[in-house]
Amino acid sequence: MDDQDFRKYAHEFADWMADYFENVGKYPVTPPVKPGDIKAQLPGLAPDTPESMEDIFKDFRNIILPGMTHWQSPGFFGYFPSNNSKPSVLAEMLTSTLGAQCMIWLTSPAATELEEVVMEWLRKMMGLPDGFTGVIQDTASTSTLVAILTAREKKSSYTINSNGFSGHENFTIYCSEHAHSSVDKAVKIAGIGLENLVKIAVNDDFAMLPDALETRIKHDLANGKVPLCAISAMGTTSSTAVDPVKEIGKVCRKYGLWHHVDGALAGTALALPEMRWMSEGIDLADSFVFNPHKWMFTNFDCSAYYVKDPQALIRTFSISPEYLKTAADNMVNNYRDWGIQLGRRFRALKLWFVIRSYGVEGIREKIRLHLKLAQWIKEQVVDHPHFELLAPVNLNTICFRLFPAGLHDEEKLNQLNEKLIHKINDTGRIFLTHTKLNGKYTLRLAIGQTETSEKHVKNAWELIKKESEKIIETIS
Ligand SMILES: *Cc1c(COP(=O)(O)O)cnc(C)c1O
Repeated sequence: MDDQDFRKYAHEFADWMADYFENVGKYPVTPPVKPGDIKAQLPGLAPDTPESMEDIFKDFRNIILPGMTHWQSPGFFGYFPSNNSKPSVLAEMLTSTLGAQCMIWLTSPAATELEEVVMEWLRKMMGLPDGFTGVIQDTASTSTLVAILTAREKKSSYTINSNGFSGHENFTIYCSEHAHSSVDKAVKIAGIGLENLVKIAVNDDFAMLPDALETRIKHDLANGKVPLCAISAMGTTSSTAVDPVKEIGKVCRKYGLWHHVDGALAGTALALPEMRWMSEGIDLADSFVFNPHKWMFTNFDCSAYYVKDPQALIRTFSISPEYLKTAADNMVNNYRDWGIQLGRRFRALKLWFVIRSYGVEGIREKIRLHLKLAQWIKEQVVDHPHFELLAPVNLNTICFRLFPAGLHDEEKLNQLNEKLIHKINDTGRIFLTHTKLNGKYTLRLAIGQTETSEKHVKNAWELIKKESEKIIETIS
């Protein structure tokens, strides 16, 4: 592709992108396709000769786009959001054009120094303790793995990295029954073993019971185990339950455990001073993660990881082959040593664009709106004779189910709600996902897409009611 063609298509794509943002609410949120539908339209062999951008772009629009789930639709209420925003997309255009590989300071000084600056901005705007130092990781899953590996190395005086596990086979790790599956994955990868991951019971609100944690740690100590790390969920994925960070932190202090706080989604709400009840006691934590790529208008991937002891992190991950040594090494951060990967994208740029473009107050305003809309849905659920709220609404996610008066057969209720969610999602107008709480099939509605407004949430509720009425008619 020559310069002229690049310019031509860049302009054309920019128009397409603007149109997409304008019209994204009109696409079916999830595509009406069956497994294999998209693949069947694609050749099995790569082309031997060049194809025109005209043709490639046409296939993007005709084959790929109809097979996409539109995460940026204001009707997307599934999982947790992975929202973007216009300033973030503009920054990503620049990032991909620069194509810089920001593994060490020398390979792009501005990328490293901007990362330091935006992580400090974020730390202050979330009210995190002075002693925390931030670094951008790709995902919360990676951040939690990094926390566990650092805890493991610190506890073993950095010997497992060099000698393997010999003599350190007795570690145990703790999280609640509702912690994210990335904890299980990290425990597997870190060599601790899933059998040594202890799931602590939760209270009626699905938050970890710190007394149960302490009891179990004592039991494990008495049985020759070495309690290594506890993970608090600041906003569980099922129902956004908030574990008692302070109480868990105290238990960790008392028994010498690393305390990692996973606030992948909910951490964003710490931008609001009135939500900082969630982070009370975070000064006792060793590490904290939240994802600007979930609920802070920043394109995937961008996970903000904070640690109290960056030296422990660096000691766990540093490598120093001759070909990567530079004269500046003692004066700068080389972020290749702050995590797993060597190569790093320039992710600070999009965060910088987002924070500057919205301003801290602009970000707060959006989060407040989402929280307010979540309370509105909660009230509709509570006030409606045929719906039941299944978890407290602390944040932006409402867990509920259809519960027609007089129907008490749990099996039937589960089937009914599963049918309901399919009916709702098949309309293509909104998208919800589900979870199970105490064995009950639970509909989740998570409000957090960048452009979701009151109108979209009210329409979603009307649609849910309408589909529910149809279902109730079939049973009566
Ligand atoms: C979404 C989520 C994760 C995983 O986030 P990734 O960035 O996709 O790895 C981890 N923990 C919690 C609580 C989450 O909600």
